[in-house]
Amino acid sequence: MPQVAPGVAPEVAIVGGGLVGMTLAAATAGAGIPTLLIEAEPLPALTEATFDGRSSAIAYGSQQVLAGVGAWDYLEADVSPIREIRASDGGWRAGLAKSAHESPFFVHYNHRDLPEGAIAAGTQPPFGWIVENRAIRRGLLKRLAETPNLTHIAPARVAEVQFESGNAALRLQDGREIRARLVIAADGRHSAVRRFAGIGFKEFGYNQTAIVCTVAHERDHRGVAHENFLPAGPFAMLPMTDAEGMHRSSIVWTEDPRIVPWLLSLDDESLAAEIERRFGTTLGKLMPIGPRFSYPMRLLLADAYARDGAVLVGDAAHAIHPVAGQGFNLGVRDVAALAEALVDGHRLGLDLGSLAVLENYARWRRFDNLLLTGFTDGLVRLFSNDLPPLRLARDLGFFAFNLAKPLKRMAMRHAMGVVGDLPRLVRGLPL
Ligand SMILES: Cc1cc2nc3c(=O)[nH]c(=O)nc-3n(C[C@H](O)[C@H](O)[C@H](O)COP(=O)(O)OP(=O)(O)OC[C@H]3O[C@@H](n4cnc5c(N)ncnc54)[C@H](O)[C@@H]3O)c2cc1C
Repeated sequence: MPQVAPGVAPEVAIVGGGLVGMTLAAATAGAGIPTLLIEAEPLPALTEATFDGRSSAIAYGSQQVLAGVGAWDYLEADVSPIREIRASDGGWRAGLAKSAHESPFFVHYNHRDLPEGAIAAGTQPPFGWIVENRAIRRGLLKRLAETPNLTHIAPARVAEVQFESGNAALRLQDGREIRARLVIAADGRHSAVRRFAGIGFKEFGYNQTAIVCTVAHERDHRGVAHENFLPAGPFAMLPMTDAEGMHRSSIVWTEDPRIVPWLLSLDDESLAAEIERRFGTTLGKLMPIGPRFSYPMRLLLADAYARDGAVLVGDAAHAIHPVAGQGFNLGVRDVAALAEALVDGHRLGLDLGSLAVLENYARWRRFDNLLLTGFTDGLVRLFSNDLPPLRLARDLGFFAFNLAKPLKRMAMRHAMGVVGDLPRLVRGLPL
């Protein structure tokens, strides 16, 4: 049998070295579990500007995990804090406002509304941070390069997994073979490992496509994230770090799929005009910079998270609409819970591929994942339309919610990922 790599005999094989797989590998290998990480793409490609144009909103709880696995220090220069969030019900439509800011129907969150010490002793942290996905990948790759107990192979695509009693046999596309007690599916929404493990899933489309691009703008965003709910779908403007003397924001703009090819083909000035029609002039004159990307919006939920010898994390287990910027954050909480279950099992000498260990993780994560999936799905359905009675009801809802401080505080804590039975890493504790 051709050998995969000299060195560590893996106890766990993580298939998929995306954002979630790399975070998990840093956690398990860093805690002393021999880990193999297999990624289909060549590593240098993962940090190129053309590979993934997205930025992610990293919630406070996820930042704690990234710090706990030793990756945050490598990201810190590239993060932009979210200090305020303004969600508005597209007031521009009715001619009520020229921009989201001026609409009377909005919810405004300020991180200062949570008293000092409410989240972390002695501080008043921001809600989270906006970071380019390629900067997260760059930081994680640096951390993995110095992590012991880890074998990282790429490019290498897993072509088949067979589950035998007590072992999983993985075959790579180039013919190499690997045996591991536990295979972790971190291979995204189209997960092949999920299929080989015989785990089904439910999926449906939203009839929306997200356009993602970066814009430079005249005025400083001052750490404010905007979400404007428009009939075709939510439009978000997320505050990024300045670069080359420009103020920048990342746009996640969900649209009717029929007009997306046309929008993507516009020259910069015409696209800027379309953005201004939807967002207004709050940030002054703006201009798209860099490549443009598009992603069809679909929801996916796996029927189970674990079976004997296999477990699912991140988008392989649940892929949700980005309306609340929570997909990766859910994946990071999966990582924190699974790493804790595995590390505790490893210390006790348990079989890491056994359902007894894996079901602890599955039970732990199911509620949080279902809650966020239901919440984001409901939000998209409630707002992505222009029916007058619904519009009136949700505008009144916005108005009332904005005045209800205890409810707003609860929503803020949820958005920061610090509610419920939290794994040690999310609480800022070592594994
Ligand atoms: C437009 C948009 C905006 C978003 N914004 C946010 C946000 O602000 N905040 C947030 O928290 N989330 C956000 N998300 C969600 C977030 O991007 C995803 O949840 C996250 O990227 C999932 O990471 P993952 O590692 O699970 O999967 P993926 O990123 O899909 O990674 C899977 C990896 O597995 C590899 N792979 C696949 N098959 C194989 C195989 N057979 N063998 C080996 N390797 C394989 C792939 O090459 C890839 O690197 C957004 C999503 C979209 C679409």
